[in-house]
Amino acid sequence: MIKHLSLKAYGKINLGLDVLRRRDDGYHEVRMIMQTVGIFDRIDLIREEQPGIRIETNLFYLPTNENNLVYKAAQMLMEEFSISEGVSIHLRKFIPVSAGMAGGSSDAAAILFGVNKMFHLGLTTRQLMERGVKIGADVPYCILRGTALSEGIGEILTPLPAAPQCQVLIAKPGVSVSTRSVYTNLHANQLRPEQHPDIDGILAGIRSQDIAQIASKLGNVLETVTVREYPVIQAIKDKMLAYGADGALMSGSGPTVFGLFTDPASAKRAFEELRSGPSSKLAKQVYLTNFYNTKNAPSSEF
Ligand code: ATP
Repeated sequence: MIKHLSLKAYGKINLGLDVLRRRDDGYHEVRMIMQTVGIFDRIDLIREEQPGIRIETNLFYLPTNENNLVYKAAQMLMEEFSISEGVSIHLRKFIPVSAGMAGGSSDAAAILFGVNKMFHLGLTTRQLMERGVKIGADVPYCILRGTALSEGIGEILTPLPAAPQCQVLIAKPGVSVSTRSVYTNLHANQLRPEQHPDIDGILAGIRSQDIAQIASKLGNVLETVTVREYPVIQAIKDKMLAYGADGALMSGSGPTVFGLFTDPASAKRAFEELRSGPSSKLAKQVYLTNFYNTKNAPSSEF
């Protein structure tokens, strides 16, 4: 009997993010290049005799009730499979919150994986993904991970060859962005053709394993909304580029910015500058990491 699982829920960045249109039902049709990065939340999932779902977290402002995505994930499977025991979930957050890195979705993905394994439910990855989309549009991707093309509302996923490795500098300014309001303010059906990023160009760079091509094509249509509102995002991008980034972009609906560096020494200098140098006021959280691809990891790792 499995009593305890230690899970890692990885964050993502978007190498490309385009919104094709707003559908009549209010959902947005997207075309995104997703990439998992080596920043993760740590989750301990503990089996308990007492029924119910109990959550503890290191961030006092996160909900510990059914509003936490880990609760929703555990509840979904435990109800469907009439599990009469309970679970405790200890969630240690490291992925910046409300930042465009799908932290909550990734936590939910890890719990779906963990509950399936702990209680021997026998669901395949695809079956977990089908359930995950009901919790959030990014959850299926967070189960799949690696480099992928995401279409539809985020649920149509095509795995891609792993993007060529490089250093990834991540900086989150001290502002919070509501994903919903960014999409509302985008006015997706009125975008001009030149405002759409070249997603096919990024795909070509991934297929030819050409990081320079990928870096030159990075693009996120949501920058048109968020950068206007928070100029600090542009300031961080400019700083990364000045320190030798091959490319820099806002991730998701922001405000997190990432820079891709092929030269590790430049990446280190930019990291120091943003973390503790004269530019340290620009960002609250700064990480130096790289791409995480499941092919380089044991298949059971989560
Ligand atoms: P995305 O990139 O998918 O837009 P995000 O990075 O913008 O995600 P998250 O950090 O995943 O945003 O979620 C932020 C919101 O979700 C907050 O309002 C927070 O209270 C709520 N939330 C619920 N569960 C979690 C969780 N496990 N981790 C983080 N936030 C959570």
